[in-house]
Amino acid sequence: MTRAPISRLRSLMFVPRRRTLRAGLAAVALVAVSATAQLSPGEQRMREFIRAHQDDQIAMLQRAVDINSGTMNFAGVRAVGALFASALDSLGFETRWITLPDSVNRAGHLLAVHRGRPGAPRLLLIGHFDTVFEGEGQQFARDDTVARGAGSSDMKGGDVIIVYALKALRDAGLLDGANITAVFTGDEESPGMPLALSRQALRDAAQRSDVALAFEAGSQTLASVSRRGASSWLLTVEARQSHSAGVFSRGAGYGAIYEAARILDTFRRELAGEPDLTFNPGVMLGGAHVAYDTAHLSGTVAGKTNIIAPSAVVPGDLRFISEAQKDSARARMRDIVAQHLPGTSAQIRFEDAYPALPMTPGGARLIALYDSASRALGYGPVAAQDPATRGAGDVSFVGPYIPGIDGLGALGRGAHTPREEVDLNSLNMQTERAAVLMARLLEHP
Ligand SMILES: [Zn+2]
Repeated sequence: MTRAPISRLRSLMFVPRRRTLRAGLAAVALVAVSATAQLSPGEQRMREFIRAHQDDQIAMLQRAVDINSGTMNFAGVRAVGALFASALDSLGFETRWITLPDSVNRAGHLLAVHRGRPGAPRLLLIGHFDTVFEGEGQQFARDDTVARGAGSSDMKGGDVIIVYALKALRDAGLLDGANITAVFTGDEESPGMPLALSRQALRDAAQRSDVALAFEAGSQTLASVSRRGASSWLLTVEARQSHSAGVFSRGAGYGAIYEAARILDTFRRELAGEPDLTFNPGVMLGGAHVAYDTAHLSGTVAGKTNIIAPSAVVPGDLRFISEAQKDSARARMRDIVAQHLPGTSAQIRFEDAYPALPMTPGGARLIALYDSASRALGYGPVAAQDPATRGAGDVSFVGPYIPGIDGLGALGRGAHTPREEVDLNSLNMQTERAAVLMARLLEHP
């Protein structure tokens, strides 16, 4: 969040004061655009390497998909990790398995570091090894240019794109001197709690990097450089318990259910429709006896129609595009909660989960670079995906520190269903675009 004011300051400092200076800058910009509008010899060589190794890449994807690695299958997640660690070791990376405390109850993550020239740009690559489904029917099954299987596109497809883009960089002599860290998490689909522990490796890597590239399933025409953050809230309401005949009177008051309804309806009337902000009550319990289990999001309730309900509880979520929007929404929600109906009291508690990856000048530059790489390769333009159409992901954790781009992975369909599949022809396009983007980021800090 501290980036934006600094870059705003820089752009103010670069305002040209004389016409000649402005013309000079325009000429420089033109040269820069034409230099990236076509492939350099090194980039052309990477494209040829990637195309020549497509069968190897598909074979690696098959090996990865054939290892069952549902989030809670720790042995499977670590076996996929071993497959990728050996591929990255042979590219000159130092690899290490990061274990998590037993209480977090997850497999851990693979950390791979390629040390390059001091002061050269530092790239962070993000993948994950776990899948939502696993089992016999979830193995790799190829049908011409499509393959089915758990994680085929989400995101073992993206993981092999990382490996083959790096192999292409090395073949073209562009990996020497490059500072690249890769973090493959073992629990993206169901992150271990608390997130402060399970996502520490990602946050640490972001603080040692300049830009992040994430390889969740992609599209030909869109990539994400901003994603909304996600958090949760819990509204608890208490009220005087009395006979229903006296409801709305000074003595009996309005009860907890009317107070909860007032609060939720005021949230909707005052905050709904703000761009990129959503908040949703997921469960609601109210009555004479309420027991709510925050861990399992379930509960029991009992009451009578002739009793003014003394308690209500409502858990919900809150999604936002920036910390400022999150803080402002929370402040307004707290104000609404504080205006109690007679005979009631209420509290709202907020809990952070995923930070936002806000749109920044760095993000705008990233999407422009990816777009120009895609055009130079002949794959057409790429635009920034509307953050409202995508949930939070692992790339979100870099948001407080550096810009990031997501959706660089394989194209497919059916993610998070037992019929997940990948378009094998998309591997060339996505690997070529990732390799050219990485090469250009490494060359032009
Ligand atoms: Zn995923």
